[in-house]
Parts: sequence; structure tokens; C-alpha cells
Amino acid sequence: MALGQFAYANNTNRFLACAALDNQPFAVCGVPYDGVVTNRPGARFGPQAIRAASLMLCDGIHPVFDVSPLEHVGDALDMRLPNASPLPEVREHIQRQAAALMAKHHCVFLGGDHSVTLALLRAARERHGQPLALLHFDAHCDTWVDHFGEPSGHGTWTYEAIQEGLVSPAHTVQVGIRSSGDRAAREYVADQGGQIFTARALRGLDGAGLEPTLEAIRIRLGDRPAYLTLDIDVLDPAFAPGTGTPEPGGLSSSQVLTFLEGLAGLNWIGMDCVEVAPAYDHAELTSNAAACFVWTYLSAQVAKR
Ligand code: MN
Ligand code: MN
Repeated sequence: MALGQFAYANNTNRFLACAALDNQPFAVCGVPYDGVVTNRPGARFGPQAIRAASLMLCDGIHPVFDVSPLEHVGDALDMRLPNASPLPEVREHIQRQAAALMAKHHCVFLGGDHSVTLALLRAARERHGQPLALLHFDAHCDTWVDHFGEPSGHGTWTYEAIQEGLVSPAHTVQVGIRSSGDRAAREYVADQGGQIFTARALRGLDGAGLEPTLEAIRIRLGDRPAYLTLDIDVLDPAFAPGTGTPEPGGLSSSQVLTFLEGLAGLNWIGMDCVEVAPAYDHAELTSNAAACFVWTYLSAQVAKR
């Protein structure tokens, strides 16, 4: 016991204090890039904060899935990225490193700002050979076509993913959307045949009250290979103040857990959790929430094996 505690205390630099990546079926990897945020930077430090917050999950059996992912996960540490290079070049680096990991492991990526998801989807789309289903948690639609005068950023990737055929619009669902924006962007996913559950539509719903929403998502995503992207700002700032672009009126941690637990049976092929910016956090609220969400996802996947 004492030795175990000692080992944990010396492995706070790895998610769940797990082993270095070897032949484990699951990998966690940091993507420490925040070069194209519209408001407050700092998400490049998200991966290390989420890892530190995961420490107390490392010897726990998940109460719903009755497993611990610890022995099944390796930490690939952070990608090495040319942080001051133009976005297309950064994304090429991310895609290349992600593809190498995806060839061997079921991956969870820790952002980073949300622009990294486009590169991760490019790698996943190539690996799975068809447009993916997408479940997108966010306060923001991320379907703007103009990023404050630039063609691409952390608010355009969903639009680009649909345009590139990385995801199937009919199998795309957004949850928690509530920020200001023009109608064309706010409704883009629905206009393309997908579905949007705004934060407003989910007010006051949790537990059994969310079941019709979960069932609609199960039916829509079906058994298609599905990617989960979780922008931590989907949470209300009361639950996640540590993010670059907070939007009041968001989901609670328990609502997000209801989604993650209730949708565990879908054909997930990967996940990312992005936009954790520790400089604006208080009492590690945000990084704790992110670590718990990733742990929940991994526990569900390990239980399915
Ligand atoms: Mn986003
Ligand atoms: Mn967002």
C-alpha cells in the first residue's frame, strides 16, 4: 500500500498516474496548442492540469461500469508541436502524430483549443474509411465560416469537418449550444441534416428527464463509428470557469455525466476534451470535471471489452 501511494505520488505527470504507453489498448495524449483562440489563451496548459486532476481517479473502480481503466491505458504524453507556425502546418503535425497513435490504440486527446479537433478528425476519418458520426458538446456551434477575418480557427472546425466529408452531417449531434452568433452558423448543423440540442432546450432536464434526448442521439448515431468531442465550455462557468470563452447558462457536470453514461453503448472510436485553460480556473474545478469525463469515457470503453 505504501509503495503504491509512493508510486502514485511520483506519477502525477501521467493521466490516471498510469504507465507509459506500451501495448495498452487505450492511449491518452495531450495536444498543447492554443494558437487560434478568439478570446483568452491558455488551453495549451490544459493537458497537464487534467493529468494532475486525474490523480485521485487512478485507484478507483467506476461505480457504473465496475472497472478501472488504469491497467488498460497508457499516457503518450504531449505531442511536440511547432506552436508558432501557421495553423495548417500545426494541424499536419497533429494529424500525423494522431494517426500513428490511432493505428495502435483507442485514443483520448486532451486539448488544446478546439481547432485541434479538425486534425484529429482527419486522422480518424482516414483510419475508419468513412465519414464518422459526431457528438459535439459545446457552448459554441463552431460552424462559423470566418474566424474574425481568418479562414480557420477554434470556431470553424465543425463547418470544415462537414465540408471535408470527415463527418456525416446526418449523424452529427450538437449539445449545449447557447452562444451568440448569426443564424446561419447557429443552425448550420441542423440545416445540413443533423440535430442540435441547445442548452436552453435542456434546462432543468437530468436523469430520466434526459432519456428522450439520449434515445434520439442513439437512434441518430446508430452503429456508425462515432467520435466524441467535448469542449469543456459546454459546462456552465459555475462548473468550469477555467476556459477561454465562458458562456453562462450551460450544462451541469451531472447532466454531462448522464450523457456520457447513457450513451456508452455507441460505437465510439475516439474522444477529445478541449479548451481547459488552467489560468482562469478556481480550485481545479474545470480540470477535475475534464478528468472525470475522460475517466468515465475510458471506463465505459474498458467495460465493453
Ligand atoms: Mn468549441
Ligand atoms: Mn466552446
